[in-house]
Amino acid sequence: MDLIALAVPFFLLLLILEIGIDRLRKTHFYRLNDAINSLSIGTLSTLFGYFTNLLPIAIYGLALQHLSLFDMPLSWFDFSPTGIALWVLALLAWDFCYYWAHRCGHEISVLWAAHAIHHQSEDYNLSTALRQTSSGFLFGWIFFLPLFVAGFPLEVIIAVNAIDLIYQFWVHTQLIGKLGWYDRVFVSPSNHRVHHAQNARYIDKNYGGVLILWDRVFGTFQEELDDDPVIFGVRKPLSNWNPLWANLQVYAYLLFDARHAARWRDKVAIWFRRTGWRPADVEARYPKTHHPLPEFRKFDPTMPERLRSYVLTQFIVTTAWGLWMGAMYAEHGLGAVLFPGLTLIAALHSFGLLTEWRPSAARFEVIRLGILTPAGILLTAQAGLLPFSTELIAAVPIYSVLSFAWFKHGESEPLLT
Ligand SMILES: [Zn+2]
Ligand SMILES: [Zn+2]
Repeated sequence: MDLIALAVPFFLLLLILEIGIDRLRKTHFYRLNDAINSLSIGTLSTLFGYFTNLLPIAIYGLALQHLSLFDMPLSWFDFSPTGIALWVLALLAWDFCYYWAHRCGHEISVLWAAHAIHHQSEDYNLSTALRQTSSGFLFGWIFFLPLFVAGFPLEVIIAVNAIDLIYQFWVHTQLIGKLGWYDRVFVSPSNHRVHHAQNARYIDKNYGGVLILWDRVFGTFQEELDDDPVIFGVRKPLSNWNPLWANLQVYAYLLFDARHAARWRDKVAIWFRRTGWRPADVEARYPKTHHPLPEFRKFDPTMPERLRSYVLTQFIVTTAWGLWMGAMYAEHGLGAVLFPGLTLIAALHSFGLLTEWRPSAARFEVIRLGILTPAGILLTAQAGLLPFSTELIAAVPIYSVLSFAWFKHGESEPLLT
């Protein structure tokens, strides 16, 4: 039973509810472009995860076979007092490992390159929670090996991972204020807002997953203060809506520095030293400028009104396509998601271009609707995997082309250059 997949409909329902409340109260916690970017990044992470998770799964399998110090049978984890105590122990162990994984994810450059994407949003809402990396599989597994060495059953480890992850969804909201004692024991909206801040006082604080107690023990706790309102985002902003580039941005910065460092020792150290560290020669030749925080403005290119409607409807259709792919993957495995996945990537890339309304956006959208989407649907249909009749599915690109023509017809605002 995949608890995370089961939670997805509830995530979406809560998201819609939060958007509704945001509209009613006019709090402006949501922007269409930012939310589409975050959700696109979450969808990509799920899609790539179907393929990349094979690496940690293989490593964990080997660890269970060869490194387990104790043998804890699954039958021990029942509803007896001992069984419940073992569940709590497993959850605590996972949450402890999560704290260190997350802390290193901020404090070591190559790990920050994977995790930074979760922090690039300059808004803070439930869509931010789904904004997850596609490259966490490279090193993230290392931190959870101790549970396999301890001999917890695989089913228990999968379950506590899911519980920890699902718990973290609801804390990504500005609708809930401070919660008194709860803020001091558990990760909560207030103390996780601090974690997403770029204010100097709040940087590298509140790493906990379920318990904030770890931060209090290891000296990384910071309370949200009324006289220092949180400004969300990262100090080196993403400044575009491309979900693929969002995954690569920090790697690209590190690669740039590594290429330009004179000493080989520095070329290696760049990846593994404290986040932000740069060799002196690179810093001297290519100094980084940080704008003072009071000058901070959110990245927010304007979109023509019809374009907003167009992208939103396309995004809803694409999300349905992505959810259907999740079911296909569960039923038929990797082969079933290859071609639909490529059409999904093309769509999400296109939404990035459209929300920025770059000159290449219309051109790419025409190629997507005219060639990439029909080809993807055709190949999926040939594999006998389409959920509805081919006619109905073929109607999607036709509808899309017509609505795109409608948008282009009404377009009056100039392109960005
Ligand atoms: Zn973080
Ligand atoms: Zn977060």
